[in-house]
Amino acid sequence: MQFIDTHIHLQDYKQNCATDILSAMSDYGCKKLINVSAVEADWGKIKTLAEKYPERIVPAYGLHPWYIEAQKENWQTRLEMLLRQNPQALVGECGLDKLKAPEKAVQVAAFIEQANLAKQYHRPLIVHMVKSFGWLEEIWSSLPQKFVLHSFNGEKEQAGQVVKRGGYISFSASIMKNKNAAEIIRALPEDKILVETDGPYQALEKHQESDISFLPRLINFLAEQKQEKAENLAAKIYQNSLEFIKTW
Ligand SMILES: [Zn+2]
Repeated sequence: MQFIDTHIHLQDYKQNCATDILSAMSDYGCKKLINVSAVEADWGKIKTLAEKYPERIVPAYGLHPWYIEAQKENWQTRLEMLLRQNPQALVGECGLDKLKAPEKAVQVAAFIEQANLAKQYHRPLIVHMVKSFGWLEEIWSSLPQKFVLHSFNGEKEQAGQVVKRGGYISFSASIMKNKNAAEIIRALPEDKILVETDGPYQALEKHQESDISFLPRLINFLAEQKQEKAENLAAKIYQNSLEFIKTW
């Protein structure tokens, strides 16, 4: 089984080491990782890793809504420069979070600025969305033509809206704990599904760091809900991931 982990924070691993993960990738069938950032301090670390492992890492530069207020001024200029210098880089993660982040106006403004950069430089956008689908609906038109709602754990209808607008849905281990998983997954077209660890976060077991070796288990779970052969679904998800990372 081949796959791409479409959302990992390599720079945040503590128990495991990023270079060990990178060397073990091929043992598990993991062909590439999208290494996302949350704060500006991540950008340089990701850039260094991506330059060292260009075949394995697709870098994504952005600012997570939780940390927007602590951000130094003029980040927009620095982010734009980074995107210009790295034509293969994606934008993210950025987004909207009703549960744990600054007030709506602050989040929305920072999100739109990042979405605009993605549009301007023709890059896929990686979106964090927690209990804030209504906010997202108000600004649909700001999104670039290619985007993903990462670690999706919302409702079936929301996933439907995303797909209708050309977006992708990425699942992490969290979907395995969702009681509506079957109906959400079944309703989704196969060409819009991606998978991710969100590592080191969101491991199924508490106090563990999630790892790429888990992804075949997640793909098996998705295939069960779809009542399809895991190998077939894995091949489709792999193709979707390759399609997703293409800039335009
Ligand atoms: Zn993340």
